[in-house]
Amino acid sequence: MKVGIVGAGMVGSSAGYALALMGIVSEIILIDQNEALAVAQAEDIAHAVPFMSSTLVNAGDYTDLAGASVIILAAGVSQKPGESRLALLERNAAVFKVVLDRVLPVAPDAILLIASNPVDIMTQITTRLSGLPAHRVIGSGTILDTARFRSLVGRHLGISPQSVHAYVLGEHGDSEVLAWSSACAGSVPLTSFAAQVGSPLTQDVRATIDHAVRNAAYKIIAGKGSTYYGIGAGLARIVKAIVHDQRDVLSVSMVTADATGVQDVALSIPRVIGAEGVVADLFPVLDDEETRALHRSASILKERADAIAL
Ligand code: ADP
Repeated sequence: MKVGIVGAGMVGSSAGYALALMGIVSEIILIDQNEALAVAQAEDIAHAVPFMSSTLVNAGDYTDLAGASVIILAAGVSQKPGESRLALLERNAAVFKVVLDRVLPVAPDAILLIASNPVDIMTQITTRLSGLPAHRVIGSGTILDTARFRSLVGRHLGISPQSVHAYVLGEHGDSEVLAWSSACAGSVPLTSFAAQVGSPLTQDVRATIDHAVRNAAYKIIAGKGSTYYGIGAGLARIVKAIVHDQRDVLSVSMVTADATGVQDVALSIPRVIGAEGVVADLFPVLDDEETRALHRSASILKERADAIAL
């Protein structure tokens, strides 16, 4: 199984590193407009491989993507001083247009995995530009927010994050929605389990967890400039579900026909991921407040995506 990564910056290379250590694919190709960077990242990652796996890691050209099962799109430009978010988005959309013109002819059957931010809008743009069916264009979306939500709840309850079934929905960003009302520990509703173990989820506890999930990236950016290890591992987790056809339930972004009455908008809900990409959507049962918040998040994303001129 071959995986391509376009954009060998911090996020792309972290995904490559995580994938190489996991040893779940046979070959990784790194591409960047800065060829020297792609070569250096590939060599650095390749030097880690003998300790963990036998994945081949190389820098390459777009033609090397032939036969790739998944292509991670992590290319992008950073914000110029004084540049509006919309102007930045349009420049990133232009980067994706150039990249897709090179990727699609050589790897028409690959699943595209979008990592560049704002990931929901970039997923919507890629779906539009590529003409691929929506289920083959997946954004990393809230995979990381969900992981953080599960780990904080797990820590509060004294159980592993894997035993917490809880999802962050909507935008990967400020308007995201923590779906508390449908969350479970094992098969037990969260509130009931919390009471049973004597660690009630008070309004204060929920507010603290909500704040920590929503502001995790800001905190990391304040300390080290950008985030990449977490999302790198999240991207590798999605690739694993695809290349092994695992049918895992992960919260990822995809253009969704109808999300709380908002049509054709890319956002995250839990989805079943397998070899064909997104195999099924799982709309969680939400209370009124969560439904209103998800509608708001979907409306914000739809408005932003519609504002991009292509
Ligand atoms: P991040 O932290 O999101 O990974 P970086 O700036 O570290 O951000 O990485 C983005 C990468 O995308 C850079 O290495 C840059 O060279 C690359 N890139 C930008 N435009 C293109 C393009 N048109 N084709 C290929 N790579 C590109």
